[in-house]
Amino acid sequence: ALERTSAPAEVAETVATHQIPTVACADLRVPLVTGGDIGYANLDHAASAPCLDKVRAAVDEFLPWYASVHRGAGFASQVSTKLYERTRGILRGFVDARSTDTVVFTRNTTDSFNLLARSLPKHTSVIVFDTEHHAALLPWKGPNVRRIETPRTRLAAVSAVDEALADCPQGPRLVVLTGASNVTGELLPVKEIATVARRHGARIALDAAQLAPHRKISIRDLDVDYVALSGHKLYAPFGAGALIGRADWLRAAHPYLAGGGATKLVTRDSGNLGVVWNSGAERHEAGSPNTVGVYALGVACETLAANWDGIVAHEEELLARLRRGLAAIPGFAELRLFDAPVDRVGTLSFVVDGFDPGWLAAVLSAEYGIGVRDGAFCAHVATKRLIAAAGSTGQQAVRVSLGLGSTTEHVDRIVLALRQIVARGA
Ligand code: PLP
Repeated sequence: ALERTSAPAEVAETVATHQIPTVACADLRVPLVTGGDIGYANLDHAASAPCLDKVRAAVDEFLPWYASVHRGAGFASQVSTKLYERTRGILRGFVDARSTDTVVFTRNTTDSFNLLARSLPKHTSVIVFDTEHHAALLPWKGPNVRRIETPRTRLAAVSAVDEALADCPQGPRLVVLTGASNVTGELLPVKEIATVARRHGARIALDAAQLAPHRKISIRDLDVDYVALSGHKLYAPFGAGALIGRADWLRAAHPYLAGGGATKLVTRDSGNLGVVWNSGAERHEAGSPNTVGVYALGVACETLAANWDGIVAHEEELLARLRRGLAAIPGFAELRLFDAPVDRVGTLSFVVDGFDPGWLAAVLSAEYGIGVRDGAFCAHVATKRLIAAAGSTGQQAVRVSLGLGSTTEHVDRIVLALRQIVARGA
């Protein structure tokens, strides 16, 4: 199997190398069922991206110093508080937020949307496409939530939101929308939908879990109100994410968690407890926060922000090479949200006629040292519908997702592996 992984002549063309940040897993080796080991081809960046070398070094330096934030006079507490608060500014810059936007640290995108869902004014109407990731699809509750079917063109998607908003009862309105599909990598028409939303007085919450690691985001240019993102998809370790956006609803909402850090003052007079909650971001950050994770997230965002040109060029080159290679595999069908080609990040999902996706993923791992994801990607409605639209059956697919850890060798390896697996049959 080791020999099988060398690139065939027809895909051995050289590609330009781009100045991109390096990742900490570049040298990892994994065992093969056939014996020996091989360099790990991590083609699962969309699930969680490997830690940047820069992030690893920064965290290493910070680890001996972490301490409780906002509560200690000691030097380590001062350092931790400073880095934690500084990261709010880094994130504000990372998404080009308005000066009045707040940055609340959360655990991840799922946590961010649950916080926003709990902070909506009463009777807020929520419009969301039914093909969204479950993190964006599920947190909204009540009779005014409408999950609309995702149309097959970007234009129709904009019209669908327009029509749904026109049908909404009076009161606050929110459109929840992903920037890039975690199933197909396609970009959604965020700016166009935001323009329509504004006409109806609606706010927009952008699920940037998949967009933020691949493209520069501007809250102002896109004219969205909230951005949710996850550190572990942005080349930092798990456990830190953020909700960035308009402060008013968050300020007026009951704290997400009750406890220390969210409070300004707690009193007990004549047996009655009185609580004055903080009004800033800390209102929703009760408990000792993930200081190390937040710091790592900030370093990752700074690193990405300084390298967008190289990051995008690297990914586009690899994606074109991957798609060229996969298209030649018999029975290969790619899942697509939209009928016409649209701008996209380096993620794609596919089925191969006659092959079980779970089995394909297992063989890619065991025999070729390639990590991909199989299943329905926490987007069950999308995956099932798109498989049917691709002319196949079933509810599961294989997903390949590129990122800073990806190389031409990884791309060539998976193309060749799939060719060989398909040639020898299931
Ligand atoms: N939104 C999208 C588009 C995603 O791909 C994911 C994760 O895969 C999420 C939201 C949820 O992210 P997390 O699991 O970090 O909360």
